[in-house]
Amino acid sequence: MKKLLYPLFIMVRRCIYLTLGTIDMLFGRKSSLVVLSYHSIAKDSWQFSIDKETVEKQLTYLKKHYNLVSPADVADVISGKRVMKTPSVVLTFDDGYKDILTLKPFFTKHAITPTLFVLSDGVHANWEQLDTHRPLLSEKEITSLRDAGWIIGCHSGTHANLTEVTAKELETEVTTAKKILEQLLNKKISYFAYPRGKHNARVVQTLSKAGYILAFTMDDGAINTATNPLLVPRVGVDGTHTFAEFRVLFSPSVIRFRQMIKTSFLGRYL
Ligand SMILES: [Zn+2]
Repeated sequence: MKKLLYPLFIMVRRCIYLTLGTIDMLFGRKSSLVVLSYHSIAKDSWQFSIDKETVEKQLTYLKKHYNLVSPADVADVISGKRVMKTPSVVLTFDDGYKDILTLKPFFTKHAITPTLFVLSDGVHANWEQLDTHRPLLSEKEITSLRDAGWIIGCHSGTHANLTEVTAKELETEVTTAKKILEQLLNKKISYFAYPRGKHNARVVQTLSKAGYILAFTMDDGAINTATNPLLVPRVGVDGTHTFAEFRVLFSPSVIRFRQMIKTSFLGRYL
């Protein structure tokens, strides 16, 4: 039954996004600063895979219509140090799949330096929580992306469900993971992305103690001075979004709609 309903939900969602997005476009409404979250760059049936050509088309559109900025800009907007004069987007990629390397020539050509959230202990990756099993970047590859100017953040040690681990495990996943990546990259790791966006007060407190400046969720939202730096919302882009949907995915009304139903049983169809 669920399998039958899924295409229907996707179709209804598409109609709603396009209607809301078109209204926003007509009134010239654009979000001033949003963070997008991608996962795998591949042509397969996993929901979080998007093929290279599609991502490049999306990024070309973004470059034309938005300012591409970094997490440091997000911190500045939250602290009130900076106001975005033109609509801006931060590009983030979670999990650290090896297939991201297929985008490297495109990023180099367009002088884009994305943010990559990687695991510090990929050898013990929690594939169940990752919901897939595909090759991860090696330490050497992560280091070379740092050298290319990419921003590397921590996505925990093993991609555990941080809301369910013991206090000791949480410390390893958050604090030890930060130290391991800092040692590997010889650089301060200031940004964190919650595995599957899962967080609670205990997790946020551990991140704060570990010294992270920003932590990114999967809760939809635009960023402003009211944003909690350790609960920075992101808008997820996946393989179910058509190009027309992508163009409106982070427009203010669509974001509000997504926020509204995210917690309902329909949340998984977003
Ligand atoms: Zn993840």
